[in-house]
Amino acid sequence: MNVVAPAAPLIELTDVRRRYGGGDQPEVEVLRGVSLSIHAGEFVAIVGASGSGKSTLMNLLGCLDRPTSGRYRFNGEDVAGFDADQLAWLRREAFGFVFQGYHLIAAESARENVEVPAIYAGLSRQDRAERATALLARLGLADKLENRPSQLSGGQQQRVSIARALMNGGRIILADEPTGALDTKSGTEVMALLNELADAGHTIVLITHDREVAAQARRVIEIRDGQIVADSGRREAGGQAQPAAVPSVHAAAGEGGVRRALWAELAEAARSAWRGMRMNRARTGLTLLGIVIGVASVIVMMGVGEGAKQRVVDQMGAMGTTIMYLGGAHVGSGGPPGEITDGDLEAIAALPEIGYVMPVIGDPTPVRQGNVERQVYVFAASEDMPAVHHWKVAQGRYYTEAEDRDLAALVVLGHKAHQQFFPDTPNPLGRILLIGNAPFEVVGVMAERGADSGAQNYDDMVFIPYQAGRARVYRVQTQPDYTVISAASVEQVQAAEKAMHALLLARHGREDFRIGNAAAKLQAEAQTRNTMTMMLGLIAAVSLVVGGIGVMNVMLMTVRERTREIGIRIATGARQRDILRQFLTEAVLVTLVGGLAGLAIGLAVGAVLIASGVPVIFSLTAMGGAFACSVATGLVFGYMPARRAAGLDPVVALASE
Ligand code: ADP
Ligand code: MG
Repeated sequence: MNVVAPAAPLIELTDVRRRYGGGDQPEVEVLRGVSLSIHAGEFVAIVGASGSGKSTLMNLLGCLDRPTSGRYRFNGEDVAGFDADQLAWLRREAFGFVFQGYHLIAAESARENVEVPAIYAGLSRQDRAERATALLARLGLADKLENRPSQLSGGQQQRVSIARALMNGGRIILADEPTGALDTKSGTEVMALLNELADAGHTIVLITHDREVAAQARRVIEIRDGQIVADSGRREAGGQAQPAAVPSVHAAAGEGGVRRALWAELAEAARSAWRGMRMNRARTGLTLLGIVIGVASVIVMMGVGEGAKQRVVDQMGAMGTTIMYLGGAHVGSGGPPGEITDGDLEAIAALPEIGYVMPVIGDPTPVRQGNVERQVYVFAASEDMPAVHHWKVAQGRYYTEAEDRDLAALVVLGHKAHQQFFPDTPNPLGRILLIGNAPFEVVGVMAERGADSGAQNYDDMVFIPYQAGRARVYRVQTQPDYTVISAASVEQVQAAEKAMHALLLARHGREDFRIGNAAAKLQAEAQTRNTMTMMLGLIAAVSLVVGGIGVMNVMLMTVRERTREIGIRIATGARQRDILRQFLTEAVLVTLVGGLAGLAIGLAVGAVLIASGVPVIFSLTAMGGAFACSVATGLVFGYMPARRAAGLDPVVALASE
């Protein structure tokens, strides 16, 4: 740490020059070799005509700008060696700016304006409010705390800006034409205030074009065309108080300044972002819309896609993912269709890729019980039927393989068939049903299957053993109507079809049969649905990106609109990363709110769809993903505008309208 001799000046400029332009623009030298020392506790007025370079000089003194050449020593240290954070620290802890145009943030109240420098100094919310309130009360504005700048007179606004300059201590107050825009009375009040502050030990540099105003300072320096032409010289300590000591920049700024809780900063940024959003409701709403639609459509589209897929998967579960159908077929040259013989079926059953082989004969047949007679679809198949159709017996049992072989005359009823033939008999087991003219004994009732896919309603049918069916009901039939064949496993469906095809071709010598591969069809359909879901998701994601571009657009507009505010924040000590973080927070807050709204709307739309019978399955992954994407969109698309804001030159920003 530097030990500074008591006599060393607080501010020391040596041959400082500031040139503008250069390159393809005409070069102007606004400050032409200014050398100047100001000691702690001095009250200096710098007076000069308009355009003489006073404001330029003040921007240099306040570290808002750097000299083109020459040296600026602050507290004995060369400012040229300070990095951006250390300069921000100086602006925050050492200087307090008072501008001719007040430069208050229009959207914030008097108290909040005064609090701004303390936000960047890391004061807690409560301490900030207390200190700002006390300062405003001291400057006679106790009853104007919550007024916006537009609700205050010029003199009052200037007092607010003086309070702001004092918020972090205001050891050095840099006042650029503080009375320039004020009426005489207000001007006098402001000057009296500055005098008081000088008495209290603040170092004050007052810039004015008015000699009368300048005369109220204790030292007057005259500037003309960028050069000092007169200096009344330093007067020994006019004030009663000891000048406030200025700490070395290395003491605090060197280690990153005051450590602030990240969440407190974020809360602060979110609060101001929220206010910004509220003030521009219509615009915010429209920006949000892009994100809302994006997130909602991701959720709904993924949900619908997922629901469609699940329906196929359910179908697979009901019909089996391994099932194929085999039947005889006509050949192109005409003649009777090919015949699938018992030998064929045995050979197929012997293939390693094949699970079971279930020949089926089924036709509407007159069925009688007592005085009830109906045409019923009589399904004659092996004992594999419940396994093939993933179906359970609700009551009694299914017939066995042995019973099938023995031509046993047994029947299992479908759920509805039970109600139709035995309406008053809860337990029909042991009762007799006449199928065709043959009596069959009821041994079981199937579970209710409900409105399945497919044209036939399985609940209406009755089920009998294949051999008994051929022997007693379908006597003219020489071959099964079709045969249900399952592959040994889901993975073997294609191989099983191929092997079966090759086998039958070898046995028949021609393609007089047809294999329907329901499993492969379903698998392909599930695949298609998957692709569709992906496509829908992609389209939705694109709308999210479009929403993000909207956010970027609005953020860029916001940065432009609030350029002056950004300048004010930098002048009061905000670091680049404070500005970056603030605008990034704003962008993320917009998308966060949009994401939440999108989530709610997506769920609502999904609920309506479900209510109207569309299968929708909400996936947590899709919801979480869409929400995370919306926040990421804020970060990604907010970054560029935030960078632009953080990179603004404070002098230019302050001058903007
Ligand atoms: P004062 O505050 O004394 O009225 P300024 O310091 O604002 O004067 O400006 C001094 C001179 O520098 C003026 O002639 C002005 O036009 C010029 N000047 C200030 N800023 C710029 C700039 N960014 N580029 C070019 N010229 C500038
Ligand atoms: Mg000026």
